[in-house]
Amino acid sequence: MLTYRPTPVQVIEEEEWNNAGVNVLVKREDLNHPFVSGNKWWKLKYNLEQAIELGYDTLLTFGGAYSNHIYATAAAAKEVNLKSIGIIRGDELKEVDNPTLLFAASQGMELHFVSREDYRNKNENQFHTSLKENFGNIFIIPEGGTNAFAIQGTEEFGIKLQAEIEFDVLFVAGGTGGTATGLALAMPDKKVKVVSALKGNFLIDEISSLIKEPLNNIEVLNDYHFGGYAKYNQILLDFIAYWDAKQLPLEHVYTAKVLYALDSLIKKKYFKAGTKILMLHSGGLQGKLA
Ligand SMILES: *Cc1c(COP(=O)(O)O)cnc(C)c1O
Repeated sequence: MLTYRPTPVQVIEEEEWNNAGVNVLVKREDLNHPFVSGNKWWKLKYNLEQAIELGYDTLLTFGGAYSNHIYATAAAAKEVNLKSIGIIRGDELKEVDNPTLLFAASQGMELHFVSREDYRNKNENQFHTSLKENFGNIFIIPEGGTNAFAIQGTEEFGIKLQAEIEFDVLFVAGGTGGTATGLALAMPDKKVKVVSALKGNFLIDEISSLIKEPLNNIEVLNDYHFGGYAKYNQILLDFIAYWDAKQLPLEHVYTAKVLYALDSLIKKKYFKAGTKILMLHSGGLQGKLA
């Protein structure tokens, strides 16, 4: 299986937060693996186990050109001796176009570039059938890695978090919402705040569609996307630089937006004094802007 490095909990001291009487800890899960970092490790764990158990020799998955999931899947497949295929959105791209794709190719991932139009069929059975005809014995993982095996992995992680750390509220980034779903399932008596990396109000419905029973301990915060997925402005860049100087590296797509949301809410006196807040650092630092 994938190697796992135990990860630290970082205590954050910040004058205004101390004044508000809240305690903030950051679980540095970004440090769990050099390439399969943060939540991607947990999302892939049972997918890899399943693929191997069922006798597959190849993983196939989908992503955009800067996808952390593509990056992680390429490295994970290599480590457990599976082949990997990445179906990448955009037929104008080449693997030399950016560090994510270059890295994936260096791990042995076979990259196939498809038009945006074809890419839209990524979840269609018919498309999967044709992929199987082309590539043979493939274990298909959806875009972003979110499926029942991913939720199984992040739920396990949620149980581990609670055994290790005392907290009342968990802050976590949301893309597909798979990570947050597993975590919320693991901790029914805690609040899970999901900071959406995307613009729009659809993430809560996507989360509901992933599970059978409604989750009433989860809330999606839709106001901290900074213009949309992977968008940023000078305020966010300055925020990242501030936290770099305090030894907490964040990236602009997910984790900086989570801490920004948390910081804003603390300053608005959203939390009662004494609240113990845990932020999950979900990784992705390979995509940090220079
Ligand atoms: C992929 C990713 C997420 C989003 O996870 P979902 O399960 O899709 O919500 C959050 N943070 C980082 C760093 C990621 O790479």
